[in-house]
Amino acid sequence: MKNTPIARIALDVPLPGLFDYLAPGITAADIGCRVVVPFGRRTLAGVLVELASTSEHDLAALKQLSAVLPDMPALPPDILALCRFCARYYQHPLGPSIFTGLPVLLRRVSEFVEARPAGWQLTEAGREALPLQVSRRAKVQMALLALLQTQQCVAESELATLGTAARKALLGWAQQQWVERRLLDVAAPVLCESVKPALNAQQQAALTAIVGQLQGFNVWLLHGITGSGKTEVYLQSIAAALQQGRQVLVLVPEINLTPQLIQRFRQRFPGLPIVSLHSGLNDTERATHWLASQRGDVSIVLGTRLAVFTPMPRLGLIVVDEEHDGSFKQQDGLRYSARDVAIYRARQQQIPIILGSATPSLETYHHATSSRYRLLKLDQRANDAALPQVRCIDTRRAALVDGLAPQLLSALEQRLQRGEQSLVFINRRGYAPVLFCGDCGWAAACQRCSARMVVHLRERRLRCHHCGADEAIPIACPDCGNLDIKPLGQGTQRLETALAERFPDARILRIDRDSTRRKDAWDEIYRKVHNGEADILVGTQMLAKGHDFPDLSLVCVLNADSGLYSSDYRASERLFSMLVQVAGRAGRGQLAGEVLIQTQFPEHPLYQSVMRHDFDGYAQALLQERRDAGFPPFIYQALLRAEAPMLAQAEQFLRRAAQLAFDLAAPVSIFDPVAASLQRLAGKERAQLLVQHHHRGVLQAFLGHWLDALRALNERNVRWSLDVDPTEV
Ligand code: ADP
Ligand code: ZN
Ligand code: ZN
Repeated sequence: MKNTPIARIALDVPLPGLFDYLAPGITAADIGCRVVVPFGRRTLAGVLVELASTSEHDLAALKQLSAVLPDMPALPPDILALCRFCARYYQHPLGPSIFTGLPVLLRRVSEFVEARPAGWQLTEAGREALPLQVSRRAKVQMALLALLQTQQCVAESELATLGTAARKALLGWAQQQWVERRLLDVAAPVLCESVKPALNAQQQAALTAIVGQLQGFNVWLLHGITGSGKTEVYLQSIAAALQQGRQVLVLVPEINLTPQLIQRFRQRFPGLPIVSLHSGLNDTERATHWLASQRGDVSIVLGTRLAVFTPMPRLGLIVVDEEHDGSFKQQDGLRYSARDVAIYRARQQQIPIILGSATPSLETYHHATSSRYRLLKLDQRANDAALPQVRCIDTRRAALVDGLAPQLLSALEQRLQRGEQSLVFINRRGYAPVLFCGDCGWAAACQRCSARMVVHLRERRLRCHHCGADEAIPIACPDCGNLDIKPLGQGTQRLETALAERFPDARILRIDRDSTRRKDAWDEIYRKVHNGEADILVGTQMLAKGHDFPDLSLVCVLNADSGLYSSDYRASERLFSMLVQVAGRAGRGQLAGEVLIQTQFPEHPLYQSVMRHDFDGYAQALLQERRDAGFPPFIYQALLRAEAPMLAQAEQFLRRAAQLAFDLAAPVSIFDPVAASLQRLAGKERAQLLVQHHHRGVLQAFLGHWLDALRALNERNVRWSLDVDPTEV
């Protein structure tokens, strides 16, 4: 046993720290590799993170590592360091943090067999050792060896015909480094850019600045109004990085990673391998793209949140498009912000990162205006299209028909006559948000959540949009028997119905999560919209983002007011950015655009700023408010969430947690436990405790100690988790 190296393994189990195993024959070259180990009565896949010569455990009690899996080249040190940072910063165990970044098929015990053309060849050592090692009676091994000796590199497809015994022998030889795996003829990428537009002066200035500093860490905020040509600036900056033989990582919100965007990149760089990484891929595609990127075989990775962990040996530039988007923050497990992790990674690699948005997050905007980041502005539309005219319709003074004001209806009518498209936007899917009894006041509620059931009339179902509960619409009020129970309020389905009655000849297309569930639904919608096969689009915020609809000249917004007076201080920031994005859909092509917002508060500063297209004014006012109130980005926060069968249990746990924090004598501010804004979710009662400090480092140091103390409580009835830099409080 003496001198046997100890492998320290990261496992996907909810325990802090690494696990020690005896690892005879393992060397430093194996660090970062996938391994298989016994764990209790199970067998688990792990990642070898460190080698040590001693263990704090009794050596005699240590088990032995079972195998090193050959399907993934070792994770490079920078990725391991990135995962360590995330584990530390987001207070998450290291094992699960490393596993978060791996494709599902590379988290398993079974070996991932890649369908890429690859082959095996003898190494120098193998050429000498194998003929002596292989017994003449081992027929399969002899056949295998003969093949390897006669061909330079034997394709895996050919080896497969020898059966599993041969494969097993081969992997055994690979572990002895007698054979090695090699890819068969990967075509060398050719950088040639297809035709590109000449940039306008602002775009050119941005490009010159970025390209002038491709060596070295820099955070650029490309703050450009919708349609100002940000993507064009990314593409030309990317070309410059590619020119230097570097790889580029582009992160976009899930909903923006459309086939059209991928197409735009492919068309621009026709000779280059470009892969996407997003949830629409199957597991095999994901693993294949990921591995290709790790080997350096791809030039551009276009991906969502999770792609930020993709190993890229020649990474030279990162782009985060729509950096303000909430989907960059993971809301469970490792609760990371992909934008923030991307910034860390750019610093680690000493490369530039471009954050782009029409409505930057207040954090980013604050950094950019206080010169921690570098600000680049595009305040004209690239194709000279004018910004849409935005007007509010005061619903207190309008006679609404089915929730629609007469001005809005006549604007729609006008577009129909002119053959232009309109978009009516309402942030609620389903038919109506409430089913209500006028006699006794009963309203259909979810049994498992503190939320109302949403009426889906077409399917004749009541559905909870939080937990997915689903039941038939009752024919009478369950409390008083009243037969006349009514859907109250408006969702996309009801709006669609109302518009269809009002404009019987119009072709109406509803676009929400219900209508886009099918895998290729989006493609069809996109095609219809572009071929002019739809007159009125009715949609939720899915439609607010990055889609380019050239014939759209009118955008109507309903029911936006709820974001004005929410308990979450970020609601107004989100509403503002959503309105700007929605408004940005209008008039992108040759047509002048118009935006109509129905509201009870037309004089509210938020709407006033949207009407003036004044992001800066509004952002500065919001920042001032945040500064006065002591909210982020002027303070750093962490939220301890707890859920239990009864609210009292969750609250009691949080009170103990608060006491532990006081006992640590930390200088952080500790708030009182409060019920979560959605107190009951899927049958669990939820509460939360906020802690904050104006120095990130002080908060971080405290969180580490606090978490140790919380884990030591060994709480059984309460599920809890810590959310660092929470975005939903
Ligand atoms: P953003 O990403 O800011 O929304 P895009 O880069 O998608 O903007 O540009 C909006 C539209 O303007 C696209 O159709 C794009 O091809 C076009 N465009 C961008 N830059 C230029 C330019 N310099 N000259 C002409 N057209 C441009
Ligand atoms: Zn009733
Ligand atoms: Zn529910």
